[in-house]
Amino acid sequence: MITNPINGKFELLALPYAEDALAPVISAETIQFHHGKHLQAYVNNLNAALPGSPFENMPLEEIVVKSEGGIRNNAGQTLNHNLYFLQFSPSPAKTAPSGLLAAAIDRDFGSFGNFMTEFVQKGVTLFGSGWVWLAADDEGHLQITQEPNAGNPIQHGLHPLLTLDVWEHAYYLDYQNRRADQLKDLSNLIDWTVIENRFLEVLK
Ligand code: MN
Repeated sequence: MITNPINGKFELLALPYAEDALAPVISAETIQFHHGKHLQAYVNNLNAALPGSPFENMPLEEIVVKSEGGIRNNAGQTLNHNLYFLQFSPSPAKTAPSGLLAAAIDRDFGSFGNFMTEFVQKGVTLFGSGWVWLAADDEGHLQITQEPNAGNPIQHGLHPLLTLDVWEHAYYLDYQNRRADQLKDLSNLIDWTVIENRFLEVLK
């Protein structure tokens, strides 16, 4: 997915589902704050900082790789949340991977069950705010990375496929301090057709 600015500005991601579609794991209230306030603020801050910078008119992914400081943080959070919100569906077309992605997960993690256990555990053990990622290298080899703050594996030359947002704003209204419970419950909302399509883009 390459995200280009329109007339020099990035737009707030349009959600492909209703605000209450992912409840009770992600309530309408959480969507209103997480998408409508937090993500909107990252997009606004990025748009305000771009004019006159070397990153004006660059695709979002390139800004995340090449920038630093405030622009990098706001570009990273915009990219991360776009990938996050688009990976869920209230009724996923596929609740588990198949085909080439399933084979790669079996090869690199032993089984899909092992992968999900390890993935959620990496979310539980990431200290503070950040993101956990399933990422692929150019050859399609998979790894799980823990990234602090606004980090994205694209900064290490990897391709992001699937993510968990472990900032408190992602779960506190619905789960309070029970981060692990929300991460486990989110597993049922992942649309693996989306993740497979991201993986197939890497292999092209
Ligand atoms: Mn977030």
